[in-house]
Amino acid sequence: MFRLICQRPGISRVELADAAELSTGTVTQIVKRLRHRGLADEGAVSEARAVGRSRVGLSACLEPDRLIGISVRPDLIRYVVVDWSGAVREERTIVARHPAEQGPVIDRIGLVLADQRGTIRGVGLGIPEFPAGIRDQALGWAGNFRRALEVPVTLLNNGVAAAMAEEWRWVDDPPERFLLVYFGSGIGGALVHRRRFGRPPSVHPVEIGHVGISPQGVRCVCGNVGCVETVAGPAVLARQWEGLSSVPARAALVETAEEALTYALSSVINVLQVDQIVLGGLNARLLERYYGTLAAHLERLSTPRGARVKPLLSQIGDHSAAIGAALAAIDGAGDDEAV
Ligand SMILES: [Zn+2]
Repeated sequence: MFRLICQRPGISRVELADAAELSTGTVTQIVKRLRHRGLADEGAVSEARAVGRSRVGLSACLEPDRLIGISVRPDLIRYVVVDWSGAVREERTIVARHPAEQGPVIDRIGLVLADQRGTIRGVGLGIPEFPAGIRDQALGWAGNFRRALEVPVTLLNNGVAAAMAEEWRWVDDPPERFLLVYFGSGIGGALVHRRRFGRPPSVHPVEIGHVGISPQGVRCVCGNVGCVETVAGPAVLARQWEGLSSVPARAALVETAEEALTYALSSVINVLQVDQIVLGGLNARLLERYYGTLAAHLERLSTPRGARVKPLLSQIGDHSAAIGAALAAIDGAGDDEAV
């Protein structure tokens, strides 16, 4: 609803109800919430087409408010400031390789944000599914942000956040249903299903990295053995890549990883009946280095559905989870927890 108001200043409640296929009563309730939160205003809007006339309509309250997105991973923290249109105003990556370093980094971000209190509308905090303790830690950080800034704080999975950013940016001819494969330090993802016009998409986390590929494999962060991300996860590949110097050895490393990931993805594709895949979360250089031929591998899948799948590369880059977390903060949309 908010997006519609941004796109069409001066739109009336009746027109909104029409566009979103909702009753005017429902629209009135939503408009009331938007106005209560200072996101929209209703009043006389001058209309350029009919000179001298004005009409009563809705307009979005945009400036100078900002949304903050923070994505925490086991190896680093990404931080973005976005405006309501989803445009990134500031982005930062802070290396924090040990869990003990992460708390102080988040606290420092909190101090910087406290100075800008009043211009911040919401904070989104993206976290990985594992290690298990990170959720409790993140709930503590979220509570601190909420108290310091007096804004809603949304906690969500990094893969879900990245998928929301992807969906938001996908203006031209968006697919109705797609699987976002999120390459963080491990491999996460989310299944996005667009609903009728004017309704938020449904976004469900899919733990692609923890699909088992070998009962004799290495122990994974999730506690199981032989998960695909222990062979094909970006953190594992980065470590092994640096240890190898010859071109053939590196090519062999990537080949093994891509085969393992193709095997795991084919299971996911068939279980979830996905027709389109988006590869995201890494910058273009690393996506090309580690997963450059993944699309070709997927095309060779023997199942009819696998052969139909079209893998696309995300255009958003490595801050997608932080951007999505910030967008989720608009109304706690798609979140699993508004703190
Ligand atoms: Zn696992």
